[in-house]
Amino acid sequence: MKNPCAANRETGNSPLSSSRKPQAPRPGALLFLAILAALFLAAGPVWGAVVVLDPGHGGLDTGTDLVGGQEKDAALDLARGLEAMLSGRHRVVLTRQGDYTPPLADRAGTANHERADVFVSLHAAPRNSPGPARLFVWHWDPAGSTPPPAAEPDTALPWAGLQAPHAVESRRLAREAVKRLSAALPSLPVLAEGLPLAVLEGAAMPAILVEIPDPGAVPGVGAAVARALAQAVEDFLEGSPAP
Ligand SMILES: [Zn+2]
Repeated sequence: MKNPCAANRETGNSPLSSSRKPQAPRPGALLFLAILAALFLAAGPVWGAVVVLDPGHGGLDTGTDLVGGQEKDAALDLARGLEAMLSGRHRVVLTRQGDYTPPLADRAGTANHERADVFVSLHAAPRNSPGPARLFVWHWDPAGSTPPPAAEPDTALPWAGLQAPHAVESRRLAREAVKRLSAALPSLPVLAEGLPLAVLEGAAMPAILVEIPDPGAVPGVGAAVARALAQAVEDFLEGSPAP
């Protein structure tokens, strides 16, 4: 990585420096740089994390029917939107890049193989109850009993049990997501719950599943959720506690 201080020293032929002898940095300048460095460190930005995004369904597994489309396509669109938000700072890997069905074990398996810092599975669902559309944020909890509206097939996983040590951090990630989603979409209730979801059970890192309302029925929801989730992932990586 290029050192900005070294780069400055290379510009000795600039109009400002050509007519002057080299001078020691003034104490004021040093103080300014120290404050700048302290602010940078205090903010705690994290670069270079590995984020694995899992667009739900794919291929013959279309997910649920949405207005003007299918869940598998909405999930991939959402994943690509979130990837675009995060990829400038982090390495982002998708469990599928196109219209095919990865085996369930390969979804968390990809995250484990990539040694991901965060795993986010993405889904979309039509409104299946009266009232406003809703957002769901799920984390893994073996004690949860309510099945999700569009559960993944219940298959035995080779990675089963790997999520348990990360359950506390997954709840923190879920809280960050709820906080950012609620702020970004104040008209949509955001529900968070722990469920024994197979797709999360094998993830050996903090992991959540987010289900957005039908983008065909709630215009713009995909882009707003992508922005909010990107902020939530940054909040989580920086370690700021959710209120
Ligand atoms: Zn789904």
